[in-house]
Amino acid sequence: MSTEVNIHPAVDGMKRAASGFAGGTLTCLCASNPVTVEIKGQVAHNHVCGCSKCWKPAGALFSQVAVVSRENVRVTANEDKLQVVDPSATIQRHACRDCGVHMYGRIENTGHAFYGLDFVHTELSKESGWAAPEFAAFVSSIIESGAPPENMGAVRARLSEIGLPPYDALSPALMDAISTHVAKTRGVLNNA
Ligand SMILES: [Zn+2]
Ligand SMILES: [Zn+2]
Repeated sequence: MSTEVNIHPAVDGMKRAASGFAGGTLTCLCASNPVTVEIKGQVAHNHVCGCSKCWKPAGALFSQVAVVSRENVRVTANEDKLQVVDPSATIQRHACRDCGVHMYGRIENTGHAFYGLDFVHTELSKESGWAAPEFAAFVSSIIESGAPPENMGAVRARLSEIGLPPYDALSPALMDAISTHVAKTRGVLNNA
């Protein structure tokens, strides 16, 4: 096993999704007064992401991020510690100002293809049964965070080995969903 490529701690030894999974509670890394966020039900489109904006655990090349309906996300403790990392970004990432962990990312632009979905890191929960990651997004972008370009072959090989097809944008299904939304907005595709 090629352990020198540290994709993400939750990904080496992946767990299976539990059927009828009820959700769980995300907790930030603060030893006292942690921020907690309750997620109702299962997440979708879980994946690892190489972009420089998603929160990553120490030493990991990728973040692990999934989506869930925004009405199923509720801050249950210490909400006053949350602040938006970059108010100009499409995804408003609400991070704990003490430990830096991103508790949820929200799209406020109602015209966006993914409006209504929040982005969450299920590894912040003690519950097991969350949907496992399905692919790797924005793989080339890890170079922007300092990963050596000459290692990209090994990184992509490792991702394929653990069943996460590597893409340099989102997965084809999600890129198609974005373009379909744009086409419908422009009226070049009928709203079926
Ligand atoms: Zn914290
Ligand atoms: Zn990302």
